[in-house]
Amino acid sequence: MKRSLLVLFALALLIGWLLRPIDGVSILAYHRVREDGERYSVSPQQFSEQMQFLQQHGYTAISMAEMADAFSGSKTLPPKPIVITFDDGYADNLLTALPILENYGMKATVFIIAGSVGQPDYLNWDQATELLRRGVEIGSHTVSHAALSQVTDAQKQEEIVQSKVLLEGQLGKPVEFLAYPFGQFDPSLFPLLQQAGYSGACTGIAGLNFADDPPYRWKRVSVPRPKFGMLEFRLRLLRAQLVSW
Ligand SMILES: [Zn+2]
Repeated sequence: MKRSLLVLFALALLIGWLLRPIDGVSILAYHRVREDGERYSVSPQQFSEQMQFLQQHGYTAISMAEMADAFSGSKTLPPKPIVITFDDGYADNLLTALPILENYGMKATVFIIAGSVGQPDYLNWDQATELLRRGVEIGSHTVSHAALSQVTDAQKQEEIVQSKVLLEGQLGKPVEFLAYPFGQFDPSLFPLLQQAGYSGACTGIAGLNFADDPPYRWKRVSVPRPKFGMLEFRLRLLRAQLVSW
């Protein structure tokens, strides 16, 4: 009897330790917010529930720039900081996701494929400007969405530099961050990113981010269309913690 109590106690301690809050930043990676049932489309209803969950559980959405500033020591992080990002630059990010974000007081970052701006379903330049005006941070997702670890050195350079030049030229605001298409990267990209003036880049690796992490391999929590509702969303947040012990 005594022994089983001890085992239970040890188990409770272990679970408590596993679930302890870890002082890192989660970066959520969304793509589309719309009702099409596609793998990377979260429905407006699901997205709204997720933002409500974050708000009710005391999360504060911060921009990539605020995270970077906190990591370099020039700002402090709010309690339970989280970065909400969108890849590719779809028009629904402005038309559907932003009103929901605003409703819950959340800010976001949109990584735009510079060469896709103005194409059907994607943001046009006016819409990207509108995102900026309403406090959304814009990052680069390259020019053509090429898998950067699989192209020539000249193409790497082109995708990294030209996307920044295009976005900054059209939007009139510095672009400091990049998300690797397909999450693919290798260390040969790091000096190119540095020369181009990027302060950080997001991979597809799951986990939390800490001040001493290398800035060109920040981790993200992918949020595809959930099959198991809010439980799945909570498990994805938890998974980032578990892999970051
Ligand atoms: Zn993408």
